[in-house]
Amino acid sequence: MAIINLENITKKFDLGDSVVSALNGVSLSVNAGEFVAIMGQSGSGKSTLMNVIGLLDRPTDGTYVLDGVTMDKNMSDAKLAKLRSEFIGFIFQTFNLLPNLNVLDNVLLPTMYSSKTKAAKQRATELLKQVNLGHRLTHRPNQLSGGERQRVAIARALMNNPKVILADEPTGNLDSKSGEEVMQILQTLNKQGTTLLLVTHNEELASHASRTIKMKDGKIV
Ligand code: ADP
Ligand code: MG
Repeated sequence: MAIINLENITKKFDLGDSVVSALNGVSLSVNAGEFVAIMGQSGSGKSTLMNVIGLLDRPTDGTYVLDGVTMDKNMSDAKLAKLRSEFIGFIFQTFNLLPNLNVLDNVLLPTMYSSKTKAAKQRATELLKQVNLGHRLTHRPNQLSGGERQRVAIARALMNNPKVILADEPTGNLDSKSGEEVMQILQTLNKQGTTLLLVTHNEELASHASRTIKMKDGKIV
């Protein structure tokens, strides 16, 4: 059963005097529970694809069905944000934590739409313990190592119990030991049933995936 289904997705960036075609007709079907590695040279469209799948960006054309819900071109930003928070956990190469919030409040960010209840705080604390950061709740991001920052980002991505985790070069800014810890966590989540899409340049990491797809010039080759 496909949780992600893309048909002939294109994405063009209009820069005024020129147009960049970042995705040139991508069709991809990912089953629930799969671990798919995405490889390809810099500029081949990997991040654009992740952003479209993660509802951070809208495709120019094509069809995207996420867990049976067809993304409508006219869907409001608010509706997309709601779907994103229900389905998707996004992990970025650069962590994307908010510098002025402590660790606990960063993990609570996805719940900002609702209120910061006691239950939400308990869940955030529990997730931080799971990624071995139970002792760092009140630290600010700049008081943490890279590996610790990425583990905060993972806890944040898990806050709403997503069906899909999208990780765009999550170990790209980490030393090898921290990278391994992050990969261990992601693989455990996948074994527990979460669908995992991982962009990586690392053949070793990709070898753990159930399938590797390669991108070139905005296409899957
Ligand atoms: P990758 O992640 O594989 O390195 P990207 O998806 O980031 O590749 O980029 C694919 C192509 O689209 C590149 O040529 C890049 O310069 C271009 N691109 C990406 N984002 C934008 C944007 N916001 N505006 C204009 N061009 C973009
Ligand atoms: Mg990229």
